[in-house]
Amino acid sequence: DQRNRVVFLGAGGVGKSSVLQRFLFGTYNEKYKETIEDLFAKEYDICGTHLKVDFLDTAGNIAFPAMRRLSIVNAHGFVLVYSITNEKTFEEVKQLWEQIKEARENYQEIPCVIVGNHLDEENNRQVERFDALNWAYNEDLGGGFIEVSAKEDTGISDIFKLLLGQVKTPRAKH
Ligand code: GDP
Ligand code: MG
Repeated sequence: DQRNRVVFLGAGGVGKSSVLQRFLFGTYNEKYKETIEDLFAKEYDICGTHLKVDFLDTAGNIAFPAMRRLSIVNAHGFVLVYSITNEKTFEEVKQLWEQIKEARENYQEIPCVIVGNHLDEENNRQVERFDALNWAYNEDLGGGFIEVSAKEDTGISDIFKLLLGQVKTPRAKH
């Protein structure tokens, strides 16, 4: 039986680990602990379907390009995270999406959600919601865009609803 692997990618410090930790354990930690690679195995029963999901948390920086490539090639779904307070991290999401398109022929069928974290820091916003949404829409990422705060637990569970929504749509056709 199949396990679905959801890979978290994005620049270092944008909050990938914090978003995952908030979603999986309902906790939040102010202290920054750098990630190399962490895998969290979960099982869900959704509408009578048993779903096994492995969440892969990755290192943000490009210190491990081979690991990143491997994580892209093996993924069944992506969560691409940036910080709304840092334009550069949004540019990195765009680059990651280019890498995904290059590495995966069927990228249009792979669920991918774009996540703008640090929504609690609206005062320091550098990436306009409309610009990010517009980019995601033009790239055919459809509804796969959301702004969240791991710190304040805003929008976190919606990330996974969006992800699952994208997973289910193609299957429902069979
Ligand atoms: P990662 O490198 O992408 O995994 O980032 P982390 O999840 O380790 O977070 C880096 C730092 O940002 C940590 O100190 C977190 O406490 C902080 N952080 C994460 N998410 C948020 C958020 O939504 N708002 C604020 N203000 N800080 C956050
Ligand atoms: Mg991390």
